[in-house]
Amino acid sequence: LKTHASKHLATETFGSQGARYAKNMIGETLESRVAAIDQDTCEAGDEDAFFVADMGEVYRQHMRWKKNLQRVKPHYAVKCNPDPQVLRLLAGLGTGFDCASKAEIEQVLNMGVDPSRIIYAQPCKTKSYVRYAAKQGVKQMTFDNADELYKTKQLFPDAELFLRILTDDSASLCRLSLKFGASLDSTKNLLELAKQLDLNVVGVAFHVGSGASDPEAFLKAVRDARLVFDQAAEVGYILSTLDVGGGFVSDTFEEMAGVLTGALDEHFPPQVRVIGEPGRYYVSSAFSIACNVIARRTVKDPELNTTSYMLYLNDGVYGNFSSIMFDHQHPVPRILKSGDRLLYDKNVSEDDKGKAIEYSIWGPTCDGIDCIAESCTFPEVLDVGDWLYFEDMGAYTKCSATRFNGFTDTHDTVYVSSEPGASALLGY
Ligand code: PLP
Repeated sequence: LKTHASKHLATETFGSQGARYAKNMIGETLESRVAAIDQDTCEAGDEDAFFVADMGEVYRQHMRWKKNLQRVKPHYAVKCNPDPQVLRLLAGLGTGFDCASKAEIEQVLNMGVDPSRIIYAQPCKTKSYVRYAAKQGVKQMTFDNADELYKTKQLFPDAELFLRILTDDSASLCRLSLKFGASLDSTKNLLELAKQLDLNVVGVAFHVGSGASDPEAFLKAVRDARLVFDQAAEVGYILSTLDVGGGFVSDTFEEMAGVLTGALDEHFPPQVRVIGEPGRYYVSSAFSIACNVIARRTVKDPELNTTSYMLYLNDGVYGNFSSIMFDHQHPVPRILKSGDRLLYDKNVSEDDKGKAIEYSIWGPTCDGIDCIAESCTFPEVLDVGDWLYFEDMGAYTKCSATRFNGFTDTHDTVYVSSEPGASALLGY
């Protein structure tokens, strides 16, 4: 049962028919794997939670990006999900990569990606990592303070530097500007210091916060970046590149892309190269996870005469549902298998309609905060051995899973491809 890639050959699938085709492929893969597990006899861990990843979805997101943000060359933010198949596909599609550490740079370089396709987008870097980047020829990197400039002077004076500026990220899911970004009243001084140190500043970078929801944030950030380009010119730098960061979400992508494109065209002439660092946008919807119900507690309320259940799954907040804590997510549980019935994406039966049995969903560790959903309803009584699945589990999930309580942090991923373009690059 351990790691394997299923060999699905996709037919032409673009459009809504394609979405149905992709959904069926994920459903069949989830169902066939759980159907093959005999929980009465299996080895310890064979019923562990597992992902199904549709690389066709990553491919489609890339095509959507190219259509709507033609000017912006994506540098996938590896931190979001360093899955090797995702990186392989994106490397094949020609994207760049945003790396935040030595390990991420190494992982990308080991795939044969040219160092010029990497930006070390971490304004506060470890010294030995900077030496490593210098040795490997990963020249592009961000900074946002004077100390980092002195560090760069000492360790990598030839680096191609991007000044990361502060943004208004108050409307985003995960705020980054609490920690990073130079305010506009400090940028001129930083550029002057860089000049004194004879460093090579090539661009400006910003990030409007992960899970951004306000297009105004992009507008303001582009305008601020323009100001910093002009300040740089006064100091003697002709900047070549603008890095618009990440923050894109699938649901609002076209709207954000429209606002961003308009702002870019207004403030930056075509010869300015524009790159981005999308993470979540590329992978969130590509990954679904299946979890087994390992235990159940029946809760009877004699006063209200109700019965509800606490379900304990074999993955939780300390594992792949780390996104609940770190990424403010609310994953939605759905039934994959109940008793003998496989129920991926199925409507409830006529008999079940109107029934609403209440559940809370918990992870496997000893900690009370390990709760996936405080309250949800299903139309039927679930029991130990049943399976739930959750969609949109590709971003900031497995990358921040821990081994707390001795549970595994490396779950199987079954890869499928619902797009011929992705299949051609990946061979499945
Ligand atoms: N770039 C940088 C510097 C980041 O810190 C992050 C996320 O934390 C990203 C890109 C990716 O952001 P997102 O996943 O919201 O696109």
